[in-house]
Amino acid sequence: MKNILDLPHAPMEIMRNNLSNLIPKQFQLAPKCCAYARTSGSSCKSPAMSNGRCRMHGGKSTGPKTPDGLERAKKGNWKHGDYSSESLMLKKEIRQFMRKCRLTIEEVD
Ligand SMILES: [Zn+2]
Repeated sequence: MKNILDLPHAPMEIMRNNLSNLIPKQFQLAPKCCAYARTSGSSCKSPAMSNGRCRMHGGKSTGPKTPDGLERAKKGNWKHGDYSSESLMLKKEIRQFMRKCRLTIEEVD
């Protein structure tokens, strides 16, 4: 009788048989990504996220959702705030105050 180790590709056969034991069950039972894999021609087969695609094929970011994330996104390109609405309102109030002061000085003179 032939021993399996005597076959030409025995180590590969043993690896194939034991491969399912090496991969964790959670990984095996997870829903699979169905994205087309260009290199192999079959589907991707990586564990899928809630959108049905894996971490590599999940698609573009849909942007921040939480209020904290939205706030951080707004401040992402903030330089100095010179043209922010608060700053513009303050500048407008200062101009109005200066105009009133000027008018008052002209009345006194
Ligand atoms: Zn994928």
